[in-house]
Amino acid sequence: MAEGIVGEFLALKEETDADLLAMQCGDFYEFFGDDAEFVGEELDLKISEKSSHGSAYPMAGVPLTELTPYLKALVERGYRVAVADQYEVDGGHKRAIERVVTPGTLLETTDSDARYLAAIVREDGGNDGAGEGRYGLAFADVTTGRFHATEISGDAEDVLTECYRFAPAEILPGPAVRTDDDLLERLRERTAGTLSLHTTDAFTPDTARATVDEQFGGAALASVGLDEAREAIRAAGAVLDYVDATGVGTLASMTRLQPYHSGEGVALDATTQRNLELVEPMGEAGRTLLDTIDHTVTSAGGRLLREWLCRPIRARAELTRRADGVEALAAAALAREELREELGGAYDVERLSSKAVSGSADARDLLRVRDSLAVLPRLADAVAGSPELQNSPIADVLARPDRAAAEELRGALDDALAEDPPGGVREGGLIQQGYDNDLDELIAGHEAALDWIDGLADREKRRHSITHLSTGRNKTDGYYIQVGNSETDQVPESYDQIKSLKNANRYTTDELEEREREVFRFEERRGDLEYELFCELRGRVADAAQLLQDVGRALAECDCLASLAVHAVGHDWTRPELVESGLDIDGGRHPVVEQEVEFVPNDLELTDDRAFLVVTGPNMSGKSTYMRQTALITLLAQIGSFVPARSARIAPVDGIYTRVGALDELAQGRSTFMVEMSELANILHSATDESLVILDEVGRGTATYDGISIAWAATEYLHNEVRAKTLFATHYHELTGLAEHLDRVTNVHVAADERGDDVTFLRTVEEGPTDRSYGIHVADLAGVPEPVVGRSRDVLAKLRAEKAIEARGSSSGQSVQAVFDLDAGSFRGSASADGGRTTEDATRGSEADPDSGDDSLDPEAESVLDAVQETNIDETSPVELMSRVSAWQQQLDDTEEDG
Ligand code: ADP
Repeated sequence: MAEGIVGEFLALKEETDADLLAMQCGDFYEFFGDDAEFVGEELDLKISEKSSHGSAYPMAGVPLTELTPYLKALVERGYRVAVADQYEVDGGHKRAIERVVTPGTLLETTDSDARYLAAIVREDGGNDGAGEGRYGLAFADVTTGRFHATEISGDAEDVLTECYRFAPAEILPGPAVRTDDDLLERLRERTAGTLSLHTTDAFTPDTARATVDEQFGGAALASVGLDEAREAIRAAGAVLDYVDATGVGTLASMTRLQPYHSGEGVALDATTQRNLELVEPMGEAGRTLLDTIDHTVTSAGGRLLREWLCRPIRARAELTRRADGVEALAAAALAREELREELGGAYDVERLSSKAVSGSADARDLLRVRDSLAVLPRLADAVAGSPELQNSPIADVLARPDRAAAEELRGALDDALAEDPPGGVREGGLIQQGYDNDLDELIAGHEAALDWIDGLADREKRRHSITHLSTGRNKTDGYYIQVGNSETDQVPESYDQIKSLKNANRYTTDELEEREREVFRFEERRGDLEYELFCELRGRVADAAQLLQDVGRALAECDCLASLAVHAVGHDWTRPELVESGLDIDGGRHPVVEQEVEFVPNDLELTDDRAFLVVTGPNMSGKSTYMRQTALITLLAQIGSFVPARSARIAPVDGIYTRVGALDELAQGRSTFMVEMSELANILHSATDESLVILDEVGRGTATYDGISIAWAATEYLHNEVRAKTLFATHYHELTGLAEHLDRVTNVHVAADERGDDVTFLRTVEEGPTDRSYGIHVADLAGVPEPVVGRSRDVLAKLRAEKAIEARGSSSGQSVQAVFDLDAGSFRGSASADGGRTTEDATRGSEADPDSGDDSLDPEAESVLDAVQETNIDETSPVELMSRVSAWQQQLDDTEEDG
């Protein structure tokens, strides 16, 4: 074991489970050994060698004052860094780990997004192999003091969905989660959070409850309805304990436990957030919904808008409240602009309050708190003076924080703080005159001493008739008198020479030395006293953390609602009407695309009887735009926004699910078809009859018949079992026939006008299916040589002649069965009340009847057909269906190869 400083480093390293240790050695923080090599490499630091007791160790260091940016860089790469500080003790130094900086507890963040630390626990013995069980989740943002906890019943997918919403930077898995390889794998793969292990003690129910009670008060859990939520409490307790253990000192900024019920929200998985480009673009050229509608003027406002977009809600009262606010602000043009201008003078109060709590706020930060607090009454005045806003939710939002307390704190800061303080907090200049008598005396004495020194040069010049005489001060010489070389012979005896320069000499005198000591004494006492007064003030701000969070939240909400109003007015959006069922959009537009092109508005109607639209139309006609705009309009309505439509009647949904083209996954090198199927599986599992499902092509990633089979089965399942509102765009023209047999399926198509070789996209959505399959047609239009096009038509015809598909549907208890003849493009079949399988007349006469003696059919293919026929879709899970289809595909492929 190494001795000396390296030995001390290694011993401290033993104490912590952080990835890296930065240890203070005088004016530097040093990394040694492996840590030094690693950090040197990662951060491009110079690695030197430290000899210690005969051995040499790599060493890399950063100056004390520059640690923060390096810490930030390491932590943002996902590492946890322990920081050991040095203390003077009798006759030497002592070092101890003061804090551990981790991705979820990093305070020094520059981006305006929230930075969450999460804990995920599952009830003991809850792993049934499929990950089903009760989960507790807690999310804390140390930069703002936000704290949320919830409990859900579900599986890993539900946990991931919640994680996407908060996008935690760091995740603490509880004991049962740690042993669940599958969940850990998914967390690693699909979230950007670093997984950190925290002591299992913190997760035990009793300990966790005690931690939560201590933090939020004994009544908090009951008052937010989490008293019985054992798993939520475990998660919350673990997060609090971890924040405390890291020693970043922000625990006190968490003043309030905010429960949230995932059931109240709208399920919006990561795939859907990405597909809809809510806050992150898909490609480089992509423009997000957030970019498009964000007119907020503060970073807290922007953060809240982002949060709203990622966490739409269902609660009608809250949606109505927000929309009332937007409506009032939309109408109050002048007051709205006044409001936004005032808001522009506010800073990120929630973040500032966290900085005050952790003791890292400087005087400039406190001035920012003061200025932000001053915004509140100005906003209130603007609102009171506006007839539209007076009685609107905006007035309520501004009435939420305790305005008297806010004004008192603002006044105190205003009385105390100097107007232009330095960035440091130790060397004075922080507090204004007139605030503290002792300080005023110190200031007066200090300034008198300084005045004496200021006048010294003039006095000495006159007294000794020396022209080139000046005074100055520097670090090594302190105060001095400087005389040019030409006149040094005139210098009086009382001058002591302290330095000889090229062109001048420096001197001091007894009197100057005395004054110098006086100045230094005043400086030190003034610095100390100002620091003390400043700390008191900062403590006062820290104590007001909850007030500041209320103020920050109110300002952010005003900003957010005003931003929605600005966009609504500027782009002619309308307020959606919230109804009990259905979705009825008149003249709907895509919020992002409408900014880029002359947009053709389209209508959409979904009702209980018409819940499933099969959308067809040529490539590039506008199918996916139509479907996305539907999802986005619904989502906008569920954050309380106006929507891009002439009018809209919307029943809030419990989830929005999408499955769209897989370009980005291709780029990631993942198996596209596998991804497509797992997304489909998720939708079929999770969606309910109150969800909105958008499917943009299903089954495209595999062979045609495979694809059709899956699309077909999925449609039936969504229609019969899930009963979700669904928009399904497909290039399988065959699927349009389903409308005749599944009673709630309707065909619509995006119209295109084709004359000769030209296609004109009309962008209008019309009832009914397209009249043809477009693939070969497009090939023709694109100039593929005629022999190839002609041959494609032959091949298609032959393919169609060989297969038929049975359709199953149910309406009011009655089963409908029919056989779809791919060749004829229509159904043959009949309804049967018993729900029994294939009726004889459904298959009789079909060219596809396996028994019809068609000897072109390979026995292997025939066995596949049999298997297809024998599969009872109603009793087979979608996943099982998929795997069967995949096996059939393999069988058919083998047959083809053999043949
Ligand atoms: P598809 O899904 O049918 O292949 P898209 O929805 O991707 O087609 O639309 C192709 C392009 O057409 C879009 O990039 C968009 O610019 C334009 N577009 C789509 N719908 C409309 C519309 N209603 N009005 C104007 N342009 C539209």
